[in-house]
Amino acid sequence: MTDTSVQSIAIIGAGAAGLMAADHLSELAHDQEQDWQITLYDAMPSPARKILMAGKSGLNLTHAQPIDDFVAAYGPYADWMGPMIREFGPREVRSWSYAMGQSTFEGSSGRVFPDSMKASPLLRSHFKHLETRGVTMMTRHRWTGWTDDKALLFETPNGQQTIKADAVLLALGGPSWPRLGTDGSFLSVLAEKGIASTPYRPANCGFEVDWSEDFVAQWAGEPVKSVRLHFGAHSIEGDFVITRYGIEGSAVYGLCAPLRDALETDQNVDLLVDLRSHHDLAEVERRLSQPRGKQSFANHIRKRIHLKGVQAALLKECTERSVMNDMGQLAQAVKALPIRLTRPRPLDEAISTAGGVCLSELDDALMVKREPGLFIAGEMLDWEAPTGGYLLTGCFSQGYRAALGIGRYLNQL
Ligand SMILES: Cc1cc2nc3c(=O)[nH]c(=O)nc-3n(C[C@H](O)[C@H](O)[C@H](O)COP(=O)(O)OP(=O)(O)OC[C@H]3O[C@@H](n4cnc5c(N)ncnc54)[C@H](O)[C@@H]3O)c2cc1C
Repeated sequence: MTDTSVQSIAIIGAGAAGLMAADHLSELAHDQEQDWQITLYDAMPSPARKILMAGKSGLNLTHAQPIDDFVAAYGPYADWMGPMIREFGPREVRSWSYAMGQSTFEGSSGRVFPDSMKASPLLRSHFKHLETRGVTMMTRHRWTGWTDDKALLFETPNGQQTIKADAVLLALGGPSWPRLGTDGSFLSVLAEKGIASTPYRPANCGFEVDWSEDFVAQWAGEPVKSVRLHFGAHSIEGDFVITRYGIEGSAVYGLCAPLRDALETDQNVDLLVDLRSHHDLAEVERRLSQPRGKQSFANHIRKRIHLKGVQAALLKECTERSVMNDMGQLAQAVKALPIRLTRPRPLDEAISTAGGVCLSELDDALMVKREPGLFIAGEMLDWEAPTGGYLLTGCFSQGYRAALGIGRYLNQL
């Protein structure tokens, strides 16, 4: 006989959103003395592989800027994210990390990392914490849909299994780096239930450029530091890296969304690089117009505007030869050097995704309006954010919001 007083919660996807939802639901269950059976399911042999991968280059959990600035970083999604971030945002993420035995520190740019920089100590401690609170973890369970009688359907090493749950959270992530667990095929399963979505697209990704062979041979892998990038009304200061295929790096990721969107309608898009952002155009022109004498062109720009190495090579690569002899035009090129982008790099390589389940399908508790008891959170939803800790904090925050919603939903059943 099954105990009918026990309510079961299935959280599918043990990544940022799912883990934080499990954390808060187990806390609610404890505080409210609820008989909830909470189970986390994940397709992979071990959970949270994307967070572990994120930790390889320094796990940027969140950002230390004022909360209004933090919310504004979500751009067109700020209105939607704002209430969730104010409920569970950077401060709460740091407190959670601290409670898991990992105090955090602010890097020079305000980015916040756990002391170890890595994800594994934080996750190990979190898994243990969930276990002591009675949360069950089922790995190698790939969710594939529902049966006719509304049971969850999983592919497992022991064949297909069906599981009934009183409330379900889907936190399946976005299909960048699919080998880490998420392939995005769930959108068609959700479409069968009438749940609308937009196709996934790369976010925080590199872009392709038709570099000359000589340029790539000499400069691939080289960082271009302290420049300002402009595209339309958007502009960002920072660094990027020359790659064999084009460009990547934090400043490029910061402009990824408008660049990617523009490339969907235009074949080529020019990203403008200001190689000397601390001087205005008139000053660059004044310096370049000083007599060159017998100096080579390379020496002239090195001495007059301190342009050398990869930056000087980039200037040469992206300008017509004739421009080099006209100091007015050359100054223009230094201040707004056009790098012609041909396409974004594929979804597989992107740090994150745009697209996914339409936000209009959800109520404020992240419950699917047409499917009471079904909640969705994290990157599988149609929002995006730049790098800087906004992705993880956004997913944690949504996991927390969904947990509150699930708690309320179960209490009123
Ligand atoms: C290289 C890299 C570096 C990054 N660095 C940072 C960073 O420093 N800071 C930051 O904020 N963000 C970073 N991110 C992004 C961040 O990791 C993600 O935005 C975040 O993990 C998404 O959380 P999520 O819960 O939505 O999905 P995920 O964390 O991806 O979790 C989804 C889980 O669902 C499981 N799953 C998928 N499909 C199924 C299915 N059908 N059945 C069962 N389980 C399934 C997957 O196996 C996975 O465990 C990085 C991403 C990458 C790729």
